[in-house]
Amino acid sequence: MNNKRLIWLNDKIVPLAEATINVLAPTSQFGANVFEGIRCYWNEEDKQLYAFKLDEHFKRLKNSMKMFRMEDKYTVEELKKGFIDVVTANNYREDIAVRQTVFIDGFGSWMAKGPINMFIAPIAKSRNDIEKVKGLKCCISSWERISDRNLSPKVKVGANYINSRMAQMEALENGYDSAIFLNSQGKLSEGPGSCLFVVRDNKLITPPVTASILESITRDTIIELVKKELKIEVIERDIDRTELYVCDEAFLCGSAMEIAPILSVDGIVICDNVGELTKAVHQLYLDVVTGKVEAYTKWLTQIYKE
Ligand code: PMP
Repeated sequence: MNNKRLIWLNDKIVPLAEATINVLAPTSQFGANVFEGIRCYWNEEDKQLYAFKLDEHFKRLKNSMKMFRMEDKYTVEELKKGFIDVVTANNYREDIAVRQTVFIDGFGSWMAKGPINMFIAPIAKSRNDIEKVKGLKCCISSWERISDRNLSPKVKVGANYINSRMAQMEALENGYDSAIFLNSQGKLSEGPGSCLFVVRDNKLITPPVTASILESITRDTIIELVKKELKIEVIERDIDRTELYVCDEAFLCGSAMEIAPILSVDGIVICDNVGELTKAVHQLYLDVVTGKVEAYTKWLTQIYKE
């Protein structure tokens, strides 16, 4: 444990060891918390740390609170200020990941709406090196993805991750690196903590937002970048399981994992090495998030004021 790590908790920035919460709170007992996983990338040339798509993350966080029927006391400005303050206090000069969680505190039951509180916890996390990325062996999970009719995957609530946990742990036990869920319609949905893209005949295909997926910020980013910068068609449509077996390339994506190539599914090889389009998407993504592409610096927030 890095004892020097500073955490934002309820308007104070405190050492990790002092960032504690009530064991009886609904967040502790029922996973009653909504959260975002946000990345910042260090640009050595600019000597600057860039946070990626903060406004989109805070919009989704507030939407999660609304769908979860939580009280909401934070403005977007306050969410952003807490984020910048705690990253600055830690003085990171490297790539990081930040967990920003609004939780139900107090002593209520599983249906309490408040009181709500927040923590913001940054940690060092380097970007994936494209040359070293090995690619994943995935399986189709025997667990079905939660759906909007029972536990919506659009609400980024802690309790939802039990479904992800079941799939990921089963995959690891069976010798795979990760899993891909089918939804209640039997169509491909997403990974345990990531969205899915497949390449067929030089077109990029991804399940629609109605396929029981989180409305992923990385997914949106890739759709826009691939259309505009790589001039490749992107199609949002239902995908059958067997299409994965015969696609040319496939990858998972998310703020934490960035772009993670899939080399096989259920033991059926998709490609022997990471595909060319997957590599191109990964490179473009890293260039954009690190502030190297002028046209997309609008997506970045500078952490350090000169
Ligand atoms: N799906 C799930 C279930 C996730 O947990 C995540 C990670 N937040 C994603 C997709 C990817 O979302 P994003 O690109 O916004 O990080």
